Amino acid sequence: MADTIFGRIIRREIPARIEHEDDRCLAFHDVAPQAPVHVLVIPKQPLPSLAAATPGDAPLLGHLVLVATQLAARLGLDGGYRLVVNCGRDGGQSVDHLHVHLLGGRPLGWPPG
Ligand code: 5GP
Repeated sequence: MADTIFGRIIRREIPARIEHEDDRCLAFHDVAPQAPVHVLVIPKQPLPSLAAATPGDAPLLGHLVLVATQLAARLGLDGGYRLVVNCGRDGGQSVDHLHVHLLGGRPLGWPPG
């Protein structure tokens, strides 16, 4: 997988507001938040997108989602929140390193604007 800006954040080559780190993932605030809380949860292992995931990645994908839900509770998103995974250019993915968006802190409409 080609290196990305998120790889540089994992290696601490560029700064980020980190909320969580464990052996499998890193979570940090989005630089251009679309909601009062906008955190990205990313795997440490190289995985460019959801489309590249295999059945063997299922535990990792579950871990990313569970970390996002735990962060939502810790960050006080008691009224609810949204998890988003953009996949591919047509899906709105701009960074080719899988990431789960955690958005909340205001009512979120549907479809997203
Ligand atoms: P995507 O469009 O690929 O689903 O989401 C990529 C997200 O990464 C965007 O919301 C964008 O604001 C965020 N992002 C891009 N570069 C950086 C960066 O250098 N630092 C942080 N914290 N977020 C970034």
